[in-house]
Amino acid sequence: MILYQKRLCNNRAIMFKIIILTHTETLAKFESSFTLSSKPKRSMTGMERNNSYLPASVKEMEALGWEQADVIIFSGDAYVDHPSFGPAVIGRIIENEGLKVAIVPQPNWRDDLRDFRKMGEPKYFFGVTAGNMDSMVNHYTAAKRLRSDDAYTPGGKSGFRPDYPTIVYTSILKKLYPGAPVIIGGIEASMRRLTHFDYWKDRLEPSILSSSGADMLVYGMGEQPVREIVRLLCKGVPFGSLRTIPQTSVRLAIDEPLPVRENWTTKTLNSFEDCLKDKEMFAQNFVTFEKESNKIEASRLVEQYGKEKIVVNPPFPPMSETEADLTYKLPYTYLPHPRYDRKGVIPAYEMIKFSVNIHRGCFGGCSFCAIAAHQGKHIVKRSGQSIMEEIDRLAGMESFKGYLSDLGGPSANMYGMVAKDISRCRKCPRPSCIWPGICENLDTSHRQLLDLYREVSRRRDVKKAFIGSGVRYDLLFPEWNRNAGRTEEDYLQELIVSHISGRLKVAPEHTADHVTALMRKPPYKLFRKLKARFDAIARKNDLKYTIVPYFISSHPGCTVKDMQDLAGELKNDGLKPEQVQDFTPTPMTLSTLIYYTGKDPFSGKNVFVARSSDDKRRQKDFFFWYKRGGSESYGGRREKRAGAGKPRRT
Ligand code: SF4
Repeated sequence: MILYQKRLCNNRAIMFKIIILTHTETLAKFESSFTLSSKPKRSMTGMERNNSYLPASVKEMEALGWEQADVIIFSGDAYVDHPSFGPAVIGRIIENEGLKVAIVPQPNWRDDLRDFRKMGEPKYFFGVTAGNMDSMVNHYTAAKRLRSDDAYTPGGKSGFRPDYPTIVYTSILKKLYPGAPVIIGGIEASMRRLTHFDYWKDRLEPSILSSSGADMLVYGMGEQPVREIVRLLCKGVPFGSLRTIPQTSVRLAIDEPLPVRENWTTKTLNSFEDCLKDKEMFAQNFVTFEKESNKIEASRLVEQYGKEKIVVNPPFPPMSETEADLTYKLPYTYLPHPRYDRKGVIPAYEMIKFSVNIHRGCFGGCSFCAIAAHQGKHIVKRSGQSIMEEIDRLAGMESFKGYLSDLGGPSANMYGMVAKDISRCRKCPRPSCIWPGICENLDTSHRQLLDLYREVSRRRDVKKAFIGSGVRYDLLFPEWNRNAGRTEEDYLQELIVSHISGRLKVAPEHTADHVTALMRKPPYKLFRKLKARFDAIARKNDLKYTIVPYFISSHPGCTVKDMQDLAGELKNDGLKPEQVQDFTPTPMTLSTLIYYTGKDPFSGKNVFVARSSDDKRRQKDFFFWYKRGGSESYGGRREKRAGAGKPRRT
């Protein structure tokens, strides 16, 4: 699944990948040999077990002797106490600061609101998150059809959270406890922090900070800002004075002066109302937002909405290795809360329970992806020791059979890759360090990653460590990366021979160069190069392995003709696409902006966009030419075209 990472906001598998980093379904056969509950080897009493989690009920609070929690987190996801699940991470971070944290997972918002009342008012603040995914991506398909399942709920059942829980939960809390501060966070809040296009409402929406009525928004990965907030509150700083914490956003009255913070610069965006009137103004906002999101030293952004202004403070610098390790040292149980014991498995947990997240961030900069805007462009890696300690923990679980389903991150192979001279990156606005070419300031050596793979492979308790995350194969070939050499060749060899289960999933995304260019992806010919190397390595090692490419239809710039050509190219290459998706415009990506405006804001050129459900379906049908009567008939439609879908003569 990690393969998907780049299309992150395009499908829900990806959305949860942003935070939880799961593995591919390639591994299903190994997963199926695992038992479905992963209990620690030492058996605990019911009460002991409950007390090792953040309390999720009044009874559990009472068992801890608490009369009042300091912080209460409301989450749209079930509570899984694992570092791949945002609410657990934030809860554990706050707990680590010495505070009493309770969690209310998937509260019922349709009854008498007892779930919102039962724990009362916290001493400091409520935290609200939709969960690991944007709720609309979780709830609806690209065709806006309601999904029947939810990977973050026991039994995979749907209907346990509303659309836009960030807004719904916050509004309820504000009505019940008007004086209590509410902080929103998670991917839904993060990627809606300024005016954004909402595909499901088919219109521009103001910052979710305004729509929800929350007091503060934490964007990106929340450890650093949350720690800062908690430390200041504990020192007695009133909540209302917390206006200049990096990586947060606050609302100010229109005539209120901006709080002063030394060395900060400020950029004023076009107002929400101006964006509504003029798509060009919205596009200008996006360009500023994207450039600033990609800088280490970014400007503060200010955007007016009605009688207030939204102030988005610059981010914290990327976490150091020591800081990243801290997140994984916290006392997670690595299990879903016992309240779900008889309610069925939580599919998202089952997918990731034996996978290890080795780094964060992505410098790929794909246009449809929200990872950089959420996790950051710069790679934050964990130390080898921290990774090994986590593997020790997993190996100690009853159901661990020696298979790690993934050692990865937003991409499989960016671990440890940093700039040679970081000072050159501080103000660098480039959305991608590897497109349209690889920046000569980026060290793309795969040495550290290769060493890590080998260290893990040497462990006696690990039979095999799979790499389920998507591989950026453009980093591996001198045709794209002039620094690629022996190490990258060794990496590819090791990956194929020792770390896949028979199918390597990669994401060329399209075969048309003008579409991949709009996606900020390398051209399809590089995928052909990968396939040739893959086949050669598999042949040499007598492995009957296949390569599985991922594609997107209806991405801005993609026409029916492009899809016809794609079908033809794939047929020529002997590929039957299995992993495909139709483009979903998720908030605040470049692709979504182009979907809305019909224009590339950087080149100023008009871009064709397939918007109607018929057009989108027609494009998607081309993926399945081989199921529907061969190259001439696509999805039951007979297309009039010249040679498309037919094998090339060579
Ligand atoms: S590596 Fe290059 S492209 Fe990437 S942030 Fe640094 S200077 Fe910019």
